[in-house]
Amino acid sequence: MDIYHYQSSQFGATPARWLVTGCAGFIGSHLLEALLKADQFVVGLDNFATGYQRNLDQVQALVSPAQWQRFSFIQGDIRNPEHCQQACEGVDYVLHQAALGSVPRSLADPATTNAVNISGFLNMLLAARDASVKRFVYAASSSTYGDHPALPKVEQHIGKPLSPYAITKYVNELYADVFSSSYGFHSIGLRYFNVFGPRQDPAGAYAAVIPKWTAAMIANQAVAINGDGETSRDFCFVANAVQANLKAALAPLTQSEVVNVALGDRTTLNQLYAAIADKLAANGVHYSLAPQYKDFRAGDVRHSQADISKAGPLIGYQPEYRIDAGLALAMPWYIANNQTANAASNS
Ligand code: NAD
Repeated sequence: MDIYHYQSSQFGATPARWLVTGCAGFIGSHLLEALLKADQFVVGLDNFATGYQRNLDQVQALVSPAQWQRFSFIQGDIRNPEHCQQACEGVDYVLHQAALGSVPRSLADPATTNAVNISGFLNMLLAARDASVKRFVYAASSSTYGDHPALPKVEQHIGKPLSPYAITKYVNELYADVFSSSYGFHSIGLRYFNVFGPRQDPAGAYAAVIPKWTAAMIANQAVAINGDGETSRDFCFVANAVQANLKAALAPLTQSEVVNVALGDRTTLNQLYAAIADKLAANGVHYSLAPQYKDFRAGDVRHSQADISKAGPLIGYQPEYRIDAGLALAMPWYIANNQTANAASNS
């Protein structure tokens, strides 16, 4: 599967140097893949907290040896300011993805989520400012909308955070704003809405819904749906998130900004369940068990759907893949890598 066809010339006359934090994770490894395929130089920073060497190995297999030579990896922790400074040296663009994701993880261990997502974020912002990088793009989150009832979600209308994770992502935006007004260092936060695709981890207690259900269905295990299945989300294929990052890095900015990165669609969990079963069947995996409905999960919002009209004019973001096309592209990877997923979840 080759979903990235960016050209070197789109990023300037000579290849630029990019820092991707969280490059061994799901979204970070896609950024790495897209940039190396466009012959860019990439520095990666990751401590393998939730990322994997196997993601880096898979990217290596998808690029040429000459492109892989342009990647240098720092195994380090964003909670350590020196690691952040080292990673930012000589860098043109920072795509900051490293964080501890997952609302339930943050409820179980708010202190570690706070240390990584807030102190680690501040370390990265300071290091990027001090290295005078051209642009700092960071992973924000739709969880910042909290309990605000409006649909679709418009950037300037947010409610009260519903989890420690949501607090951390909102604090990132506040810091980004203050660095803009106080130091003239403009950055852009991408409020991702339920990103999915190959290399998203299906294992463990904090797995996201699409990889978790897909792995269960492939293994012919029952799937649990939290609530009545009418909870809805704006699921966004990872290639759309990659496009938003690359365009955000190059777009001119006069202040710090946040933009929604999604499709602008809403899919219920019941619809998603049927769509995954359908796509697996198209790949020869037939699943017919009924879902098991459970209690609603603490900290989850009922509906989520983005208004994506800001990101178009500001950075030129136009999502290329609808959910159906994204699921169709992701399924062969989940089928081929299911053995790995099971092994990981049992270890
Ligand atoms: P992921 O867990 O696959 O990737 C995160 C990466 O960051 C991992 O490789 C992990 O090892 C690394 N990391 C964690 N703590 C670190 C530390 N202290 N130092 C260095 N590296 C560290 O998650 P993802 O889905 O790829 O998410 C990437 C970013 O996008 C995160 O900031 C996440 O909060 C945000 N986000 C993701 C989604 C989504 O749907 N996937 C939605 C909203 C926001």
